[in-house]
Amino acid sequence: MNAFDIIKIGSNLLKEKNIISHIIDSEILLSKILKKTREEVLVNLDQKINRKDFLKFKSYLKRRLKNEPVAYILNEKEFWETKFSINKYTLIPRPETEILVEKLLETYKEKKITILDIGTGSGCILISLINSLPQSVGIGIDISKRAVLVAKKNALKHNISNRIKLLNKSLEGIFNKKFDLIVSNPPYIERKDIKNLMDDVKIYEPRIALDGGNDGLDLIKKVIYKSKYILKIKGMLALEIGNEQIKKVSKILIDNNFRIKKVIKDNKNNIRCVFAERKK
Ligand code: GLN
Repeated sequence: MNAFDIIKIGSNLLKEKNIISHIIDSEILLSKILKKTREEVLVNLDQKINRKDFLKFKSYLKRRLKNEPVAYILNEKEFWETKFSINKYTLIPRPETEILVEKLLETYKEKKITILDIGTGSGCILISLINSLPQSVGIGIDISKRAVLVAKKNALKHNISNRIKLLNKSLEGIFNKKFDLIVSNPPYIERKDIKNLMDDVKIYEPRIALDGGNDGLDLIKKVIYKSKYILKIKGMLALEIGNEQIKKVSKILIDNNFRIKKVIKDNKNNIRCVFAERKK
């Protein structure tokens, strides 16, 4: 069988399971096995695939047919132009989060700042920021020990371990420190809505990284309350938030001595990030 046949078999089976990304998923899985880029595979579709690679493809496909995301099957996800290692203990980095990173880099380019990333997960936000801000340093914390291990692996891979500390700590464990920037993509889904998420997310992504409590705001509130003590005056809190949370989140920020500096929309025109400055 050649690459064309195999991609076709995979994509047809995935289509039967109503997986919208059936073609690209099949292409990506095969490309990974062949250790080639998707483009390289697509320009050479009549290349023969050996039995060993076909069996590997079958085992990956079996997992994808059960809705496991491609990123978990391959243990990696592209984020902000580089690849991050991930596993089932970390959320899969999202394009919305890339927008957060992009806007922060616009704000802080060339600056020397101290950053705290709360709920760092794979470390994708903090590592991307530190990578592009060569004078800056940062701390990433996460209550999941296994997530911190993944973040450490990513920091090593990106060669920035000397400017970054990754700690298995909760927010309460951070004191006597002042940051220029606190960033967080906290769990913000309302508990009752979790059952309506896609199977890919609901079954495979860590519940602890999604569940924001009864109103989805439990962790957002915690982050805001704490940030007001550990941010420098005029320091910035940058939060990723859920659809339709901006009104409530703005109120909590304002009630806690913050000034809203910027809101950012995603490609569906929903406000998904808010930057707020700590007032004097
Ligand atoms: N900071 C990580 C990310 O943005 C993890 C966030 C989380 O687990 N809620 O992907």
